[in-house]
Amino acid sequence: MIPYKHEPFTDFSLEANYNAYVDALKKVEGYLGEDYPLIIGGERITTEDKIVSYNPAKKTEVIGRVSKANQELAEQAMQAADKTFKTWKKVDSAIRADVLFKAAAIIRRRKHEFSALLTKEAGKPWDEADADTAEAIDFLEYYGRQMLRIKNGQPVESRPGEYNRYNYIPLGVGIVISPWNFPFAIMAGTTVAAIVTGNTVLLKPASTTPVVAYKFIEVLEQAGLPAGVVNYVPGSGAEVGDYLVDHPKTRFISFTGSRDIGLRINQRAATHNDGQIWIKRVIAEMGGKDTIIVDKEADLELAAQSIVKSAFGFSGQKCSACSRVVIVEDVYDTVVSRVEELTKVLTVGDPTDYNNYMATVIDQAAFDKITAYIEIGKGEGRLVVGGTADDSVGYFIQPTVFADVAPSARIMKEEIFGPVVAITKAKDFDEAIDIANDTEYGLTGAVITTNRFNQEKAREDFHVGNLYFNRGCTGAIVGYQPFGGFNMSGTDSKAGGPDYLQLHMQAKTTSEML
Ligand code: GLU
Repeated sequence: MIPYKHEPFTDFSLEANYNAYVDALKKVEGYLGEDYPLIIGGERITTEDKIVSYNPAKKTEVIGRVSKANQELAEQAMQAADKTFKTWKKVDSAIRADVLFKAAAIIRRRKHEFSALLTKEAGKPWDEADADTAEAIDFLEYYGRQMLRIKNGQPVESRPGEYNRYNYIPLGVGIVISPWNFPFAIMAGTTVAAIVTGNTVLLKPASTTPVVAYKFIEVLEQAGLPAGVVNYVPGSGAEVGDYLVDHPKTRFISFTGSRDIGLRINQRAATHNDGQIWIKRVIAEMGGKDTIIVDKEADLELAAQSIVKSAFGFSGQKCSACSRVVIVEDVYDTVVSRVEELTKVLTVGDPTDYNNYMATVIDQAAFDKITAYIEIGKGEGRLVVGGTADDSVGYFIQPTVFADVAPSARIMKEEIFGPVVAITKAKDFDEAIDIANDTEYGLTGAVITTNRFNQEKAREDFHVGNLYFNRGCTGAIVGYQPFGGFNMSGTDSKAGGPDYLQLHMQAKTTSEML
């Protein structure tokens, strides 16, 4: 087996790659507006009621019409998943891993098509879409190999005359509720972590990006995944989401999304329902309020570049995005003005045009929420650049920087999930760490410093799951920087890490007398 290596990003300055992406966009444009059924036990089921997926950069353009599950269909899907679990759990884990490797190979062949679909369905600029697809491939390759690594369990001691073994077995039926911001990578990663470990899944993708999820299930089928292992059930959170979370046959829930929904799921999952014979497990990846700290001894150009990239890549719609900056006062003015210069020249427009660095936010609700925060920001700090928005054609918001914001301000505390960054001043490095830690989240953070002592202090005291030095705070790579945060950022799991798969399993000890 070739050792795992992450999928390289595409260099679009090469004409061949550029042209391939243009062709892929055309291909995707050729199938816009199609209907997609539910997939339950391998069977295609079409409903009257639809979720319509629109292009956020062109509000009138329909990406696809997706059948919408109700409680009855969700129940049917649960029965299918429960039945299939009895056979899937017995399939050799090497064969399960093979499905992932084959799926990775299929996606690699259709890489730009998937990315182009993300450009259309999620409003992802080319580089961001390319990274999302690469990460989906990485999850397949990485979790497949991890499964091979743990398939025989872990070594334990045995006394003379005794043979002890420690093995992992699957949990049961999992509900995977995936987000729209990494509609391919996180959707695929959370789904395949659950199935490679022998569980069966009901996948409820985000309602704004259900088409890419459907296309992924097709790939899994082509890769040999048996019917009923993954069941595709898009639907409303209040109707289908709650029903499935509450279901007594649900064994675990793997959720990625907002803090509020995550807490709701956690609470509901804790309630014991009739017929339920286990405590449900919840794996939740929630929000972030991520900080870049700039020390007075630092490469200030690197600091400004890192801030702008981490704040505005994919319009700040990443839980890892930099939404707060804390700068030590000695270098504050220099960094703020360089951030201003760099932000002013960012291009915003339709993501099908490679020249646009940024595109839209995902939908009207996001647009309304972010623009409301921009208004709040105007009262809480000095608007340095941006602050305008236009939803006449698509949900475009200009990259927005507020400076001189108090650490206690709302835009310094609450997750905005858009292209808005708040900057504050600290008198020294210690205070900068205190301000950075003063949040209920703890996902990512970065420190730009050349002072080794301060770097080591941050390593110990900056309480985030992913801490980066002298770089931005987004763009974790599967298998290299396992991703996941502390506190309100989730259940401390690490996607793309060496112990992630075990969260989907339980350990069984067997002891045999010889
Ligand atoms: N893993 C992504 C990163 O490191 C962020 C994932 C998310 O936003 O949910 O940037």
